[in-house]
Amino acid sequence: MSEVVSLARELIRFDTTNTDDPSTGAGERAAAEFVAERLSEAGFEPVYLEPAPGRGNVVVRLPGADPSRGALLVHGHLDVVPADASEWSVPPFEGEIRDGYLWGRGAIDMKHMVAMSLAVARRFKRDGIVPPRDIVFAFLADEEAGGGQGAGWLVDHRPELFDGVTEAVSEVGGFSYTVRDGVRAYLVETAEKGVMWLRLKVRGTAGHGSMVHTDNAVAKLAAALTRLEQHRFPLVLTEPVRDFLAGVAELTGVEFDPDDPETAVARLGSLARMIGATLRDTANTTMLSAGYKSNVVPSVAEATVDGRMLPGREAAFERELAEVLGPEVEMDWDSLPPVRTSFDGRLVDAMAAAIEAEDPGARVLPYMLSAGTDAKSFQRLGIRHFGFAPLRLPPGLDFTALFHGVDERVPIDGLEFGERVLARLLRSC
Ligand SMILES: [Zn+2]
Repeated sequence: MSEVVSLARELIRFDTTNTDDPSTGAGERAAAEFVAERLSEAGFEPVYLEPAPGRGNVVVRLPGADPSRGALLVHGHLDVVPADASEWSVPPFEGEIRDGYLWGRGAIDMKHMVAMSLAVARRFKRDGIVPPRDIVFAFLADEEAGGGQGAGWLVDHRPELFDGVTEAVSEVGGFSYTVRDGVRAYLVETAEKGVMWLRLKVRGTAGHGSMVHTDNAVAKLAAALTRLEQHRFPLVLTEPVRDFLAGVAELTGVEFDPDDPETAVARLGSLARMIGATLRDTANTTMLSAGYKSNVVPSVAEATVDGRMLPGREAAFERELAEVLGPEVEMDWDSLPPVRTSFDGRLVDAMAAAIEAEDPGARVLPYMLSAGTDAKSFQRLGIRHFGFAPLRLPPGLDFTALFHGVDERVPIDGLEFGERVLARLLRSC
């Protein structure tokens, strides 16, 4: 078994489930200690940090040939979302190998990239390979709950660990998408939508459930949420989405009409759900609560809405939400900004070259992620983010469904391919 596969397998065997409860990090600590030991073994002196008990983070720097150049950050999170074993074909935390795949929670989100980074870091150190510029490797806790005990904490409390870092690579990108027979595009994430988690509150008049009521908080909130559900935010064709759709059109020979991106998205198969969500802002109701007794009209009703806005739409999104929900709905929220960088420069060229060397004829294309990652925290340090965790996937595999999904798995040959691409990238970055 290759080193990268065996590392990924061992990482999956640590149940690093992030429950959102800050006190449940025992698995993360064990995984972080494992990573630190593998690095020490190869000759590194890793920095181990625990912002809260159990929430382990590991950072290490590999000096490059030219210290005057900005450093590259390669980061990955060690935590995973919960897995309900009864729904899976295999136990989710055993790292089973079957049918050419390594199975388990975290196989693609994102212990595969952690294993690739770890394997490359160890090899470079053991073989005395000096990358062109400093590389900072960071293995992080708590991404699945926003990174408050991981990336966010490090940026706030230990920013010096990232001194000189100008660019970063991590999830979600670098994976292949088979455009047509034998023609692959590799998607590089250059943008992420922003997040607005809203708490909504409507007040009304409390009273006995048997009487005439014209000021019912529950009914008013339900009406507002229905308006929101029926509302469509405007279609905005941003640069990465346009470039992605134009690139796919070029590869397939099917014409792309920028005035009708929805038709182009509909042709993308399993990618349509994710790319489609980057054509406009979205706001989905996720939680609802009101009342405490069947014959009492409560005075307050509350809901939570998961809002996601395109880069540049932050203020407009907030205004439009308030308008749709109406004046009776009180809004309060936590937000994380969108992320955006351009698809150019030496690092992007090095990504394209590394892919081309391992998969001749393939092309890299920029795209926007509809979700958020630790890039949101590192952006605060002025670091450009690229989603590039290289992975060659068989055609027909519904990759996006594996994220947080049942039977998450990574193809073994794709994982080994990814490690070779990452090693090439870090030698030429
Ligand atoms: Zn992830």
